[in-house]
Amino acid sequence: MTVPAAFRVDPMPYVERLPLRTRDAIELVVVHCTELPDLANAREYGERVLYPDSGTGNSGHFYIDRDGSVHEWVPVERVAHHVRGHNPRSVGIELVNRGRFPHWLDSRHQTMDEVYPDAQVQALVALLRRLQDELPSLRLVAGHEDLDTDEVAASDDPTRRVRRKRDPGPRFPWDAVLAAVPLQRLPV
Ligand SMILES: [Zn+2]
Repeated sequence: MTVPAAFRVDPMPYVERLPLRTRDAIELVVVHCTELPDLANAREYGERVLYPDSGTGNSGHFYIDRDGSVHEWVPVERVAHHVRGHNPRSVGIELVNRGRFPHWLDSRHQTMDEVYPDAQVQALVALLRRLQDELPSLRLVAGHEDLDTDEVAASDDPTRRVRRKRDPGPRFPWDAVLAAVPLQRLPV
């Protein structure tokens, strides 16, 4: 048996300025990876104010570290900015993983090599099950890369195009997660 990893609640400084919603408005979980080295970097990025009118920034609701510890930074009753076009109806879960860091848009560095450790995947499965118990309308899951397919000019060569978002990327174990949790993956 594995020992349950830690669960910590550590609200973002701007949490109370994010819009409120009812729990039954949530029908979708979006899986991300941070594309940063560690959880502290993710916090630093998340706390940056990017929307001066509201004094808020971009973050997921939950962050799962490589050791399986789960960190709630935004409560699900608040709309977080984590995916274009789907924020009001979704919960964002960010997995700590380097992704393409630090050459996100370099056409020569688009491989996402870091494996998702078992402890991290198991913690994600447990969190998804808990969310399904708590959120009556939740039935869908998607990767950020499935919902944001925009391409932009590569940073090393503007004549080449790269994906703006590739997370959680090719190493994410979709089959194992979908076998463990009765959510339907988008797009079908
Ligand atoms: Zn993402």
